[in-house]
Amino acid sequence: MNLCDFAPEYIRAINPYQPGKPISELAREMGLDEHSIIKLASNENPLGTSPLALEAMIQELHNVARYPDGSGFELKQALSKLYAVDTEQIILGNGSNDVLDLAARVFLKPGATAIYSQHAFAVYPLVTQTIGANGISVPARDYGHDLFAMLDAVTPETRMVFIASPNNPTGTLSDADELHRFMERVSRDVLVVLDEAYYEYLPATNQTDSISWLQQFPNLVITRTFSKVYGLAGVRIGFGLAHPDVANLMNRVRQPFNVSSIGLAGALAALQDTEFVQRSYALNRAGMLQLTDGFRKLGIEHIPSFGNFISFKVEGVATNTQKIYQSLLRQGVIVRPLGIYEMPHHLRVTIGLESENQKFLKSLEHALGELA
Ligand SMILES: *Cc1c(COP(=O)(O)O)cnc(C)c1O
Repeated sequence: MNLCDFAPEYIRAINPYQPGKPISELAREMGLDEHSIIKLASNENPLGTSPLALEAMIQELHNVARYPDGSGFELKQALSKLYAVDTEQIILGNGSNDVLDLAARVFLKPGATAIYSQHAFAVYPLVTQTIGANGISVPARDYGHDLFAMLDAVTPETRMVFIASPNNPTGTLSDADELHRFMERVSRDVLVVLDEAYYEYLPATNQTDSISWLQQFPNLVITRTFSKVYGLAGVRIGFGLAHPDVANLMNRVRQPFNVSSIGLAGALAALQDTEFVQRSYALNRAGMLQLTDGFRKLGIEHIPSFGNFISFKVEGVATNTQKIYQSLLRQGVIVRPLGIYEMPHHLRVTIGLESENQKFLKSLEHALGELA
């Protein structure tokens, strides 16, 4: 068939995104009981969903014959209050990935350039390539973003810079002062997307008030999500905050009903459930200690993380990393290989419940034993 040959070359060149292996798939492949499998591969909330959000979504199910409120009025009101921004500054998305895509569709075109860091979130090159724009990957510094090298990479063709802080899969956090200096120096003709999907997992001392920077920098978009600490990854809802003119353009290219009524109801209730957020945060801090302590005992190097996940290194050849990954799968533990992130020696594990972390560490010890 040559119909597909007419698709733009830049579309045909896209590598498909590789999601974490679903539990049901591993159960089929290995003949394992689904309940015996733990998935620590997609940075999901191990506590599940806020009970308040769950109840709100169940109620909303009764109304699914109707289209959702395309303006997201109530949720925008709540976000506006919480973050002290105007509702005109908010862009709701089908997950924050949708917001990244909207920004790319508004500001990129073939011939334009977008900049992101090596080892940065895979969706940045994806949304860039979808437009036929050129993606520039700037070498990382100690696995984190080298903001000043990224600044140096800006040319007259550059229309966007993506910054993830904390970044996935490295867990690295950009220094707030450096970020602010970056914003001061970068051309106002370049849109900077600051992706803060893991913001709520940051200790208070690391929570920069980046939203207040929106008043100073009209070329800044901040993205946040309900997929992580709020436990709503499955209903796909996130948002962006920007200058009203930028938000206006992004809202024009948005599908009129890009966010579902279930997502809107869940997100609104989740914002109210501060107890659940605190519990999720505390569990993550404890799990971080449990895992880093376990890594130390096993003599395994890891990248210090500010997210709800940790990337760790398997010594020796990259095939060892594949062997560890496969052994963990056989033991019913799903983690994430990082080959596509140019980190073939690393695996990323999401911080789970205490019992899940314990099973992971035991399985990892067993896997290392198989290698020896
Ligand atoms: C998980 C994650 C997101 C969230 O994506 P959603 O589309 O909101 O589920 C965004 N950015 C990064 C860096 C992430 O790791």
